[in-house]
Amino acid sequence: MIVLPCPWCGPRNVTEFHSLGEVVDRPDPRTATRSEWRTYLYLRNNPAGRVHERWFHRAGCRRFFDAERDTRDNTVFSTWRLGREETGTGVEA
Ligand SMILES: [Zn+2]
Repeated sequence: MIVLPCPWCGPRNVTEFHSLGEVVDRPDPRTATRSEWRTYLYLRNNPAGRVHERWFHRAGCRRFFDAERDTRDNTVFSTWRLGREETGTGVEA
C-alpha cells in the first residue's frame, strides 16, 4: 500500500488521491510560441527518480498540494501546500 501524507488531512491511502502529474513551469502567454505551448500542455519528462508532482485529495479535503516522490519505488519525500515551503513528512512505500 502506498501512503501519501496530505498537508491538511495527514497520511492516507493513495487511492484517495488523483495525480495531476509532473509540475512544469507555465510559459508567459504574451511571448510563448506555439511550440512552447504544445510542450507545456502535452509533453512531460517522465523521469525515473525524484519528481515534483501535483496531487488532488479527491476523497478527503478536496484540495491541491505538491509532493516530491521517487517514481522508481514510490517513496514520498515530502508534501506541501501550494505556494508554501515543504512541510509534510515523507512516508516510504
Ligand atoms: Zn486532504
